[in-house]
Amino acid sequence: MFDRTSILEINRKTRLATPPQAVPRQAPAQRIHNFDEVFFGYDPETAVVEASRCLQCPYPQACVRACPANNNIPLALWLIEQGDFAGAGEVFRQTSNLPEICGRVCPHFCQSSCVVNTRNGPVNISRLEAFAADANRKQRRVITRRTHPTGKRVAIVGAGPAGLAAAEELARWGHAVTVYEARPRPGGLLVYGIPSFKLSRQVVAAKTDDLRFLGVRFVTGVRIGHDLVVDELLDQFDAVFLGTGAEQEVPLNIPGEQLAGIYPGTDFLARANLSADYLPVEQRALRRVGTRVAVIGGGDTAMDCLRTAVRLGAREVTCVYRRSEAEMPGKADERQLAREEGACFEFLTAPVRFQGDDAGHVRAMECVRMRLGEPDRSGRRRPVPVEGSEFTIEVDAVVLALGYRPDDLIRETTPGLSTDRWGLIVANEAGRTSRAGVFAGGDNVRGPDLVVTAMVAGRKAAMAIHAYLQAHAGTPAPKVANVAGEDQNRLAALILPR
Ligand code: SF4
Repeated sequence: MFDRTSILEINRKTRLATPPQAVPRQAPAQRIHNFDEVFFGYDPETAVVEASRCLQCPYPQACVRACPANNNIPLALWLIEQGDFAGAGEVFRQTSNLPEICGRVCPHFCQSSCVVNTRNGPVNISRLEAFAADANRKQRRVITRRTHPTGKRVAIVGAGPAGLAAAEELARWGHAVTVYEARPRPGGLLVYGIPSFKLSRQVVAAKTDDLRFLGVRFVTGVRIGHDLVVDELLDQFDAVFLGTGAEQEVPLNIPGEQLAGIYPGTDFLARANLSADYLPVEQRALRRVGTRVAVIGGGDTAMDCLRTAVRLGAREVTCVYRRSEAEMPGKADERQLAREEGACFEFLTAPVRFQGDDAGHVRAMECVRMRLGEPDRSGRRRPVPVEGSEFTIEVDAVVLALGYRPDDLIRETTPGLSTDRWGLIVANEAGRTSRAGVFAGGDNVRGPDLVVTAMVAGRKAAMAIHAYLQAHAGTPAPKVANVAGEDQNRLAALILPR
């Protein structure tokens, strides 16, 4: 499959001279009126040209080393170049449970490290990953291995990227997996925290359908720590994985923060992006945002909120950030997309007080200008208020996208589970916690991070859980079968009844 002889004959000059291929996308004037994915993705002909820009670098390739999942990028790009799109998708699936999702939302560490970066711009690895994974899915070669049932049961808490990855790996090893999710639908951050104009619901739903096909059971609307506690799960299951993420909003702690019209970022995104069947009853009313919306924060979630406010019809949408653009934690291309859609930016500005009307609705935001002082612990220069620089911005709505931490519920209801002073679960690299049989991984261990790092944590924890089940519960070593295409129906008949 991988013709090394041909690769050695690669003409580097021709490859370096090939210009980057643009990814077709909706024009700003069109896309601000809908919540459809902005990027249409590559067509086959353009994907082949873009993949042919890869120099097929010798091992160790910079792109592979930079990818948290260590995807075999050169091999996948070579297969795309040869026209084997589904095969390329298969290569991505060997090291990633979510290639069609990471290809759409990953921060592209691989691209930033690509050696072609110094010339025309890097190979567009992420969009090629999404293209290949989509092609692979169309040929229904997504689920390719499944072993015999082991009789062991694993509970996964949280149906976000870490939980979905762990569920898939464990189900493929033959363990009976039940995923508990507090919200009405699985997906976690992928559905409730990322707007559909970046990642369509159908892409996530296809993934959860894969898992159901593998025999994974989803129990939604059950909040662990409230409806059931971890110790009750341990009575019913041989192991538990906690993939609960970090979705508690960090408050601003300034006067007026309780006024109506001031929304936490993830709550705002969920209400604006999702239909009623995705939301709990108390979250279903879509709030009106009026014409002037301020978003506080400088990360990618802040950009998502700006772009969502534009799509809700706000005419003046402003990002308020207390440092300069150079210190912003979010990606530059996300800011570019927000600017194209009409968002404005107030840098070196911090809100100090919200003012409301007689009905208790926010109407204005008192701000102060900042200057940059000495670097703080993060290495970024600390913002310092400029005396006498106060001014007021009139607003109809404010969205707070400042930062996130884990929910305290699991910590408070699980005796013996070690957490640190930020409420993060203490776990080793393999996901083992201080409680026997309890594993954790993703944002509830590392703090808010990337979809791909959560996915990798879920995979690692799945390996540790499998080893734990073998060592502590007498699970025999699984016989891993290769199952593809037409064998899937036979497989479904074997694994679905339980
Ligand atoms: Fe190809 Fe760039 Fe990776 Fe080299 S670093 S193998 S050119 S994608």
